[in-house]
Amino acid sequence: MKTFSFKCATCEEVHSGIPSLGSHAPIYYFSVPEAERAERIFLTEDTCVLDGSHFFVRGCLDFAVIGYEETFSFGAWMSLSEANFERFEALFHIDDRAENEPMGGWLSSRLYPFEGTEKLVARIHFRNHGIRPLIVLEPSDHPLSRCQQEGMSPELLGKILAYYLH
Ligand SMILES: [Zn+2]
Repeated sequence: MKTFSFKCATCEEVHSGIPSLGSHAPIYYFSVPEAERAERIFLTEDTCVLDGSHFFVRGCLDFAVIGYEETFSFGAWMSLSEANFERFEALFHIDDRAENEPMGGWLSSRLYPFEGTEKLVARIHFRNHGIRPLIVLEPSDHPLSRCQQEGMSPELLGKILAYYLH
C-alpha cells in the first residue's frame, strides 16, 4: 500500500501520511465578535449552539484519495434543526447507533480552496463505538461534492495540506 506523501509548497519539505484536519467551530462562530462569543455561543468539541436558536454538530467530511487506500478526513460542521440536534445529543453516548436514520442539514464549514461550501446540502450518518458521524454531501456539481463522489486528486490534497499544516 502506497503511503501518501507530497512536497509541501509552504515549507518545501516532503510530508508523509494524511493528517486529520478540521475546524474547531462552525463558520457562524467566526462571524460573532470575539467579545460576544462567551455570552452568545455554547461550544463543545462536537456541538455548538448560537443565540439559543442555531444548532450545529461536528462530523467527518471524508474523501477517497485517488490512487491511495487512506482517506482524507476533514472535521466539519453542519447545521441541524433543534429537534434533530436533540436527537444527536440523545444518541451521542449510545455505542450502537449506526442504524438510526441520517439527518439532513447544511454544511457549516469552509474547506480551502473551495468557495461557497458553507451552504451545501448534507446528511449526517451515525457510526458506532463513539466514532464521529460521517457527513455526506448531496451529490451536485459543486466541486467539493464532486470530490466526495469521485475522489480527490493527490495534487489537490497536497495543496490543501500545505495550506492547513502551517
Ligand atoms: Zn510543509
